[in-house]
Formats: sequence, C-alpha cells, structure tokens
Amino acid sequence: MKKYSVFSLAREALRYHSGWERAWASPDPKAEYDTIIVGAGGHGLATAYYLAKEHGITNVAVLEKGWLGGGNTGRNTTIIRSNYLQPESAAIYEKARGLYEGLSQELNFNIMFSPRGVMMLCQTQHELRAMQRTAHANRLAGIETEMVSPERVKEIVPIIEIDGPRFPVLGGLWQPRGGTARHDAVAWGYARGASARGVDIIQQCAVTGIDRDASGVTGVQTTRGPIRCKKLCIVVAGSSGVLADMAGFRLPVESVALQALVSEPVKPCMDCVVMANTVHGYMSQSDKGEMVIGGGADGFNNYTQRGSFQHLEETVRALIETFPMISRLKMLRHWGGIVDMTGDRSPIIGQTPVPGIFINCGWGTGGFKAIPGSGWATAEMLAKGTPGTLAAPFSLDRFTEGRMIDESVAAAVAH
Ligand SMILES: Cc1cc2nc3c(=O)[nH]c(=O)nc-3n(C[C@H](O)[C@H](O)[C@H](O)COP(=O)(O)OP(=O)(O)OC[C@H]3O[C@@H](n4cnc5c(N)ncnc54)[C@H](O)[C@@H]3O)c2cc1C
Repeated sequence: MKKYSVFSLAREALRYHSGWERAWASPDPKAEYDTIIVGAGGHGLATAYYLAKEHGITNVAVLEKGWLGGGNTGRNTTIIRSNYLQPESAAIYEKARGLYEGLSQELNFNIMFSPRGVMMLCQTQHELRAMQRTAHANRLAGIETEMVSPERVKEIVPIIEIDGPRFPVLGGLWQPRGGTARHDAVAWGYARGASARGVDIIQQCAVTGIDRDASGVTGVQTTRGPIRCKKLCIVVAGSSGVLADMAGFRLPVESVALQALVSEPVKPCMDCVVMANTVHGYMSQSDKGEMVIGGGADGFNNYTQRGSFQHLEETVRALIETFPMISRLKMLRHWGGIVDMTGDRSPIIGQTPVPGIFINCGWGTGGFKAIPGSGWATAEMLAKGTPGTLAAPFSLDRFTEGRMIDESVAAAVAH
C-alpha cells in the first residue's frame, strides 16, 4: 500500500494523477477462510482491520451484498460522542472516541474527524435532572463533559432560541471533544487498511444461507457460491434478524427505518452539534454548509431504506421552535437507513447459540460513533474465541439473565 502524503500528492499532481493504485483489492472469493465477516459496514470493516493489525489474523473475508459502506455507515448523521450513562457503554464509546482522535493518522486516510463539540439540550425539568445525572456518571467514568447554563448554550450556539414558547432551553450537557467525521471515509479507511494487510473484501456477494453441522458453523452459501469457514461473524445491522434466521436462532432486535435530511448549503452558522431530545431532532452543519438534520425512527418494523414526508414534517416542525432560522431553508435531500434496535438500546456483541458464530449488532440509532471501539472489541473476541472486558457486558444472554444496560435515554432523540 502506497503511503498518502504531501509528497505523493505533489508527485501525482505532476503526472496527472495517473499513478494512484486502487484503495483496496477486489479478489474473487477463496474456497475457505479461517474467519468470514458478513457485512462491510464500518463495524465489519473495523473488525477485519483490527483482526489483522492487532492479532495477525489475515485469512479473513468480509462479504458484502452491495457496496462497502452502503448501509447505515454511509447514511448516518456522523455524530460522535461518548456521554453515555452506564459504565459499560461509557467504556466502549469512549474507547471508540479516543481511537477516532488519531484514526486519520493510524489509517493514513483522512476521515475528517472534527471534535467540534456536542451540545445535548435540556428543555424540560426532567431532562435537566437526567443530564445532571449523566454528567456525574461521565465524571466517574473519566469522560470530559459538563453541564452548562442557558446563557452559555446561547454563547456556544448563537442561532439557538433559548426562550422558546413551549420548550425554553434550561441548560445543556456539553462534550467538548465530541463531534463528527466523514462517514464514508471511515469505511474506506478501514477497508484500505484491512485490504493492505491481506483481508479479502468481496462486494456484490450476498450471504443467502449458513451451513452448520453438529459441531457448529461450517460455511456460508452466497450469490458467488459456497465458502467454508471456521468462524463466522454476523455484522449486518438492520439485517441481523434475517441472518440469525438463516443460522437457526432468534435475536431480540427490531428493524426500523431511521431518517435524516440535509438543507441547501448556507454560510457557516453553527460550529458544533446540537441535539434536542424533547423536540425530537438534532442538527450540525457539514463542511459544504448543509444543515444535517436527524429525526426519529419509524414506529413500525420495516426494511425500507427510504425517508417519508410524515417524519420530515414532524422533525422540521419541532426543530423550528428551537432554531427559527431553519424555517427559511430549502431541503436538498432526505433518506433512511435500517437500524436494529434492542429493548435496552444497547448493542449485542458476543457468541450465539451456534458454536463458531459470533454477532455484532443492535447499535440502533447510534453505532457510527462506536465503530473503532466496536471493531477493536469484536476482533479481540474473534481472535480469543471469547469476549474481552469491553465486549463481555454486551453478550446476547443478558436478555435471558435480565442484565440490561439501559441506555434508552442516551439516544439523540427518544426512539
Ligand atoms: C439516518 C441515520 C442517522 C444516524 N445517525 C447516527 C449518528 O449521528 N451517530 C451515530 O453514532 N450513529 C448514527 N446512526 C447509526 C449508525 O449509522 C449505525 O449504527 C452504524 O452505521 C451501523 O454500522 P454497521 O457496520 O453495523 O452496519 P451497516 O453500515 O448497515 O453495514 C451492514 C452491511 O451489511 C450488509 N448486508 C446485509 N445483509 C447482508 C447479506 N445477507 N450478505 C452480505 N452483506 C449483507 C449491508 O449491505 C450493509 O452494507 C444513524 C443511522 C441512520 C440510518
């Protein structure tokens, strides 16, 4: 893999950019791999990268039914933060946020990490109390957050209306090193790093069946033929239930569409991320100037990767109270992704009832921020055959043992 640098850029500029090699290889599938990862989203690709880098395991294939990063990883609103309430969540999200800080350098690929700060608004007394509790929990977990006054919120976010008629701003939970990153670049950077270390990334290869015998998994059926493997890791977000069904077990997840939209580009007006749980919306400004707006999840299970007018109307109507200026903006485009929601709104990372099959899913509306930490922890689990300390609390059996990790109020909006 050639290193990207100012020198390689200058060299290529002088020869009309004719010497760039492909960022990752596109090999045909082999008959057998030690490990197969299903799903080339951020979590699957990061898992493959850390398997190769941290554990030297490279006889690995990542199978993707479409194009890499084409699922939720390329559809989210790119918010990165680690201000979660429960210690187990704080640990894995903060591990991820910490890795994001140096990820461009580590991958030699500009993922445009922008620690511009994340403000979570408190617009009811209840929310104020809940956020104060989270701030205390964050301090105990060593995560840098602070409660700020309405006046300070206005200083940080001048376009906000803090004296709104229904939901005045009563305060905010501010995480100064939260922010955003370019979502596609995260997938591309991990893909390039994994491919350079010998991992096969195979796109346009849908898994259609899972083969098993009495001792456990033996391989997969795909649209490009059968492939044998010793270990299988399912990392397919909204399609997790479908893959679990192929393997013969059930998951406590629901798949629903989550939607987002962007406005036409405008001059810089907001240099941090703002989340307004009570009015049900969140917003940041992209480098191109678009206001990136996230809304709610559908109230019914479905597999449509589309937006709908009903949600747009709800989200925009609510946000206008807090950000009156957006009433003048035109919408540029909107879309949806299929997210996999668990009952306690925490992910599942662990072994499944089928020996040799592992799963990473249930990130719901908030898994982009977790990609580096999740990939790191899932790679450790695959390499050792058992989850390490970061992943262990998120095992599937917590649902039968009643060990919930309740983060239902930690989402940007109340899903
Ligand atoms: C609108 C929206 C906004 C969001 N905003 C945020 C945010 O601001 N911050 C945040 O942290 N998170 C956010 N999220 C959530 C985040 O995007 C996801 O949690 C995360 O991207 C999940 O990554 P993944 O790698 O698990 O899944 P994906 O990126 O969905 O990848 C799974 C892959 O599996 C593939 N696949 C499925 N079935 C098969 C099969 N049978 N064979 C082979 N491949 C298969 C799919 O094609 C897909 O590419 C948002 C999500 C959406 C939809």
